[in-house]
Amino acid sequence: MNKTLILVAEDDRSVQNLMITTLKAHDYRYLTAMNGETAILEASSHNPDIILLDLGLPDMDGIEVIRRIRTWSNVPIIVISARSEDMDKVEALDAGADDYLTKPFSVEELLARLRVTERRLAASQGEQTTSSVFINGKLKVDFSAGCAYLEEKELHLTPIEYKLLCLLSKNVGKVLTHTFITQNIWGHSWENDIASLRVFMATLRKKLENNSDSIQYIQTHVGIGYRMMKVE
Ligand code: CA
Repeated sequence: MNKTLILVAEDDRSVQNLMITTLKAHDYRYLTAMNGETAILEASSHNPDIILLDLGLPDMDGIEVIRRIRTWSNVPIIVISARSEDMDKVEALDAGADDYLTKPFSVEELLARLRVTERRLAASQGEQTTSSVFINGKLKVDFSAGCAYLEEKELHLTPIEYKLLCLLSKNVGKVLTHTFITQNIWGHSWENDIASLRVFMATLRKKLENNSDSIQYIQTHVGIGYRMMKVE
């Protein structure tokens, strides 16, 4: 029995129906909101586990909804937007959204995003007591020692690669935008920082995903950023 409570904030009836039918079929509990004000109200009064938020709501910009909810809650927010709105997605992620879905999406995509978010929630609940070591599949990051290991072998990382790995690990399951990452690594986000980021990410991935059958730890989101996946 799946007890996860999902708030669906979407004004398009057909998209809302698709989501509700899917949630029902998979034993999720759900609430709905047709506009931003209602979404904020439902979020504060029912404390949902995950919010699915359409960025194009009739009364309020979706980004504003995220900002308002983030003043009191860290509830995972998955934004939903049209393919043409890539900049909105980036802005939403920078405002504190966790993930995104692009319309039109399939039922499988929706369920996959929910599973990623649920795994992250479960992982963060279990982690509260042991914070200095991060384990994900065959990867281990020992934050206090400043070392990372793959299959018990120490990884030889440059300082920037290590910083990147720590940032991704601490935000496992979340999509991090180029701006967020470069701000954290270099303290600013210029055009050439993003170009450098691409290079450092490529070398880091080569070390983590060193052969064809190795686990994929890092997902690339073209035009948006990167995410470390939580491995089973
Ligand atoms: Ca809409």
